[in-house]
Amino acid sequence: MAKKWHELALEAPEDTRHVLGISGGKDSAALAIYIKDNYPEIADKMEYFFTDTGAELQEVYDTLDLLEGYLGKSITRLGSGRDFEHWLTLHDNMLPSVRARWCTRVMKIKPFEAFVGDDSVISYVGIRADENREGYISKKSTIAAVFPFAEDGIVREDVFRMLEESVGIPAYYKWRSRSGCYFCFFQRQEEWLGLKRRHPDLFQKALEMEQNVAQRKFDWSTGVRIESGKGYTWHQSGTLEEIVKRAEERERFEKKGNQKGNSSWQEILKNEMDDDDPEDQACLICAL
Ligand code: SF4
Repeated sequence: MAKKWHELALEAPEDTRHVLGISGGKDSAALAIYIKDNYPEIADKMEYFFTDTGAELQEVYDTLDLLEGYLGKSITRLGSGRDFEHWLTLHDNMLPSVRARWCTRVMKIKPFEAFVGDDSVISYVGIRADENREGYISKKSTIAAVFPFAEDGIVREDVFRMLEESVGIPAYYKWRSRSGCYFCFFQRQEEWLGLKRRHPDLFQKALEMEQNVAQRKFDWSTGVRIESGKGYTWHQSGTLEEIVKRAEERERFEKKGNQKGNSSWQEILKNEMDDDDPEDQACLICAL
């Protein structure tokens, strides 16, 4: 019979490193708490890290501070050494997207792989038992991933309960379904609206970035730049201004509770279905 995750952890050679990436999201925070409360011997060996893109919400830093207090250990801050704007320039002003997710590779995975080097590592991943996704699994043979929640039958409700009873639920869950960069392209339309209301300065920054690159688009057939028309946007279904306008319209519509043959509702519904589902497609090293 295959060994349980905690047996593997406890039987690992003395020089094996035990690492748990804290994303600022609910699942990784709850996993750190779960291991500390139930497997203190493993928690004693644990190294916690957070990969900071420099584009995180203040609420994420607040959660990290609370978590450090609860765990009684510091969370090592990793980074790519440069800010997002630097990497954006280096990527020819191509905003990252679902299909061109250079942000994760450069700002999250590379710093993590530098942190663990060639050491033998067990990486603890907060995928729950009620999820069907894999998370980031390194291709390095020296890194073995274990999934305590999935093995122990821990589900979403358990995660929220653990947080409520310890450090609290990260404040951004009031308006956003996940952690990660403030401009993350996995955001739903209403989350962009939430960003505009809660962090107008950050929304403005995202808007300016988009407007700076929106008129630049590479034409693959001719190899020249098109200077007019739409180029890169944060969201596949339009510019940030369009997205926020739609979210506001939807909000107004929902408040009215009017669903009778309204053509704008059809539009709204269509746009909603076009949205990426962050729960399914989230950048898992960022968002767990
Ligand atoms: S949170 Fe989003 S924008 Fe930030 S690195 Fe991950 S996928 Fe990219």
